[in-house]
Amino acid sequence: SKKQIQYCKEIIKKNKIEFIDLKANDLTGRLHHITLPYYENILDRLVTEGVGFDGSSYGFKKVENSDMILVPDLDTARIDPFRDAPTLSFYSHIVLTDEKRTPFSQDGRYLAKKAESLLKEITGADKSWWGPEFEFYIFSNVEYDTRTASSYYRVEHAEEFYKKAYHAANPFDEYDDFRDEACKLLKAQGINVKYHHHEVGERGQQEIETYFADLLTTADNIITTKYILFNFAKQKGLYITFMPKPMYQQAGNGMHLHFYITKNGKNLFYKKGEYGNFSELGRYFIGGMLKHAPALSAFTNPSTNSYKRLVPGFEAPVALTYGMGNRAGAIRIPKYVSNPQETRFEYRPPDATANPYLCLVAMLLAGIDGVVNKIDPVKEGFGPYDKNFLEGDDVHKIHFLPRNLAEALDALEIDNDFLRRGNIFTDELLQQWIKTKNEEIHSIGTMPHPFEYKMYFNL
Ligand code: GLU
Ligand code: MG
Ligand code: MG
Repeated sequence: SKKQIQYCKEIIKKNKIEFIDLKANDLTGRLHHITLPYYENILDRLVTEGVGFDGSSYGFKKVENSDMILVPDLDTARIDPFRDAPTLSFYSHIVLTDEKRTPFSQDGRYLAKKAESLLKEITGADKSWWGPEFEFYIFSNVEYDTRTASSYYRVEHAEEFYKKAYHAANPFDEYDDFRDEACKLLKAQGINVKYHHHEVGERGQQEIETYFADLLTTADNIITTKYILFNFAKQKGLYITFMPKPMYQQAGNGMHLHFYITKNGKNLFYKKGEYGNFSELGRYFIGGMLKHAPALSAFTNPSTNSYKRLVPGFEAPVALTYGMGNRAGAIRIPKYVSNPQETRFEYRPPDATANPYLCLVAMLLAGIDGVVNKIDPVKEGFGPYDKNFLEGDDVHKIHFLPRNLAEALDALEIDNDFLRRGNIFTDELLQQWIKTKNEEIHSIGTMPHPFEYKMYFNL
C-alpha cells in the first residue's frame, strides 16, 4: 500500500539506502537473495512487477514452467547488518507469471497466511502464538569432524561431562559475549530475546529463546535468527551449527516451539482447575499434534540427522506423550507458568533443519484436526505422564516418534489428509517434499560412514 511504501521511503532516506535486497527461501528452508541498486520509485515498481527468477533452482516442483516472480513483502523491511553498503532487505512473496500474479502454492509464506485464516474459520481464534527456542553449537575450529580423536575422546568421557555445562558460568561460558551481541543484532531486526545461556552440551552448546509472535512473523523470525547468528559467527571467525546432532553422545540441538492461541487477546488454552490449567480446546490441540506427530515429523524433523537427536538420555523427546514433568515426551506443559495469559504447551520435536513455514503450518493443521475431530489426548492414551515412563510398565503402552526420516516419510504418505484441509498442502507440494527428502536419504544411506570404518574395516 501507499502507506507502507511511504514508511519504507522514510527508512531509505534516513539510512541513505543504496541497495534493495529481496530474500526468499527454497523448498527446504534455505535462504537465497537477489540485490538491486536503489533508485527513486524502485519500490513502487517492485510491488507491481517484482523480479523474475528460476523457481526450479529453488527446489520447487515445476508447475507449468519454472519462471516465477519475487515480490517484496513491505511489512518485512529491515536493514541488513551484514552488507557493507546500506541495504534494505525484504522477505518476498513468490508469485506466478500470469496476469493475476497468482500466489505460488509451494511458497511457505503463502501457506502460513492461509493456515492462519483457516484457524480463525474453524476455531474462532484470531491468532496463534509461537515462541521458538534456538539451540546450537559454537566451535572455534572445525575439528568437530566425527573422525577426529577429540570426538572419540568425548565418547569415552561422555558420562563424566554430561549435564555439566547447563547454565555454565565463566570462565567456562566462552560465548556469553557473543550471545549478548547477537541479542542486540536480533533486536535491530525486531526480534526480542527472552534470555540466553550455555546449554547442556559440554563443548559450546548455546541457547537463545525469543518472545512470542504470530505464525508468519515467527517463521520469518526463525529464518532471520539463523541468518544473524550464521553471519555474526562468520564475522567473529567462529563456526556455528543448528544441526540436530552434531556431536556424538552430546546433547542435540532442538528448536522447541511454545504455542497457544488467542481470541480478542484472550488465551483460549486457559481453564482453571483442569490438568495444567488447560481447556478442552487446548487438549484437542495437544491430541491433534500427538496423533499426527509421526507424519508431522517429516516437516518438524526433516533431515537424516534429526533422528540421531531423538534418542533417550539427552532430554530430547522420544515418546508421543504429554505432561508437565517429563522432557522425553513430545509435549510438555511448563509448570512455572503462573499468568493465565501465558498458558501454553511446548512441542519439543522440531529442530532448525525444518523449513519453518512448512513446520509451523503443519503443526497448526495437526492441532486444528484435533479440534475438528475432538481428539482427546487422555482417551488416545497420550497421558498425561509426569513420571519417567521409559522405566516401568508404561513403556509398553506408549508410542514413539519415528526412528528415522524414512519412517517419517512413510507416516506422511499414509497420514496427510489433515495437511490438505483448506487445500493448504497440495499434492505437488507433498510429492515434491517426499521426493526431495528421499533423495537425501538415498545419498546418505549409500555413503560409507566414518564410524563404519572403525566397526567393519577389520572385521
Ligand atoms: N537439547 C534438548 C533437545 O534436544 C533439549 C534440552 C531442553 O529441554 O532445553 O531437545
Ligand atoms: Mg534447551
Ligand atoms: Mg524447551
